Amino acid sequence: MHSYDSLLATVTDSRGRPIADPATGELVGHAPEHGVGHLDRAIETARAAQPEWAALGHDERARLLRAAADAVDESAEALAGIITREQGKPLNGPGSRFEAGAVSTWLRAAATTPLETEQLLDGEHGSATLDYEPVGLVGAIGPWNWPAMIATWQFAPALRMGNAVVMKPSEHTPLSVLALVEIVNRVLPPGVLTALSGDRAMGEALTAHPAFGKIMFTGSTRTGKAIVRGSAEHLPRLTLELGGNDPGIVLPDAEPEAIAEDLFWGAFINTGQTCACLKRLYVHDDVHDAVVEALADLAAKTPMGPGIDERNVLGPLTTRQQFGIVDDLVERAKAAGARVVLGGDPDRELPGNFYPTTLVTDIAPGQPLVVQEQFGPALPVVRYTDLDEAIERANALDAGLGASVWSADPERARQVAKRVAAGTVWINQHGGIHPMVPFGGIKGSGYGLEFGAEGLKAVSVPKVISG
Ligand code: NAD
Repeated sequence: MHSYDSLLATVTDSRGRPIADPATGELVGHAPEHGVGHLDRAIETARAAQPEWAALGHDERARLLRAAADAVDESAEALAGIITREQGKPLNGPGSRFEAGAVSTWLRAAATTPLETEQLLDGEHGSATLDYEPVGLVGAIGPWNWPAMIATWQFAPALRMGNAVVMKPSEHTPLSVLALVEIVNRVLPPGVLTALSGDRAMGEALTAHPAFGKIMFTGSTRTGKAIVRGSAEHLPRLTLELGGNDPGIVLPDAEPEAIAEDLFWGAFINTGQTCACLKRLYVHDDVHDAVVEALADLAAKTPMGPGIDERNVLGPLTTRQQFGIVDDLVERAKAAGARVVLGGDPDRELPGNFYPTTLVTDIAPGQPLVVQEQFGPALPVVRYTDLDEAIERANALDAGLGASVWSADPERARQVAKRVAAGTVWINQHGGIHPMVPFGGIKGSGYGLEFGAEGLKAVSVPKVISG
């Protein structure tokens, strides 16, 4: 008996689709197979529940969201266990316990973020105010990499603003989200939050449904474009958090030993399966070898294995398909003469999707491993001598979620950061997020902001009263 068994039993359905543990191939449970009829019923229920939810007002909704955060904290260990078994990230390190902690942090932040009426004009030109009102129904479609945390980013602000939410988690990680929604719904009134387990067809049906005034989507750029097309007929507002290929630029004055650990986790958190992971690293020739050596030392010391084992802090890739993508990109780099410093030699016969932590250098800047999103633990390190050229390469792709600049001189780093095209540019760190700091991409990484007051505005409709 595991700590998560009873929670898992509330969300599985023995007639449903089997979900395999990515570390072992063993059965985790059967995910219910919801169809379009379930979507229609969830919409009906949400429509019926939303006006009363909106009428509760901000303070009461905030109180309930804080109570939901407390409920998540009470069941955090069970939720973390399900995430580890289904998605693969270890319990330990920046893994599933960390993810369950982020869920309650973001729930509390959604409850407490202030959003006041804006007085735009008040004087001889008259008066104008701007308020934000509920959209009504928000549809949310999520990915498999941080299933519970990203679901919370989507539903918590939407609920705070008085909307009802229907969610469609990834078909690879439905159980984590169904379990989270089961916990949160112990506290919320019935009908305001529903999660449906289904595949791409369910995502398409949700996208095309005129009931939704807003769709929150996190996933690949390709699917983001399909959602724009699929929703065009009824024009819901969209937040699209799409794929990234975040560059990092290490300046010649950086101290390799001092930055190595943050570089490492910037690239390898969640075994590289993070939207705003460091996915290509440009390092000045003066420090290149020392940076690569420091990263290789850390990588060799960081245990990877089944996430249920407390010793491991890196886990498997969630899907076999993702394993194949990473494997192919590294093989192509090898064939083109790049140097594999560490890793690059997966045991393809294992039942789990383990791809070893991999560093590839002496790689041409146009190699697929550099210019395509690997979404896994294989970091290409590109040597540079001319900073302008490195910035140009960093900016050359149709992606712009995050980026980072590394230097002993933060002011110098800030000057370079201004020239890098991304929604967020971090200095001497990569991927750090905060619930009060807006986060979102540009270019092929999508549009719209999450978190903070901007995130609340994004799940609302603006109302100007003028006169
Ligand atoms: P995906 O696009 O394959 O799937 C995401 C979701 O969309 C799933 O729930 C899927 O069922 C659904 N879907 C698929 N086709 C659809 C369609 N035509 N219409 C509606 N829904 C559809 O993405 P993924 O593989 O689950 O996630 C990995 C990608 O997500 C990576 O590119 C990663 O960078 C990106 N990501 C971005 C962020 C961010 O905040 N920007 C966060 C996490 C992941």
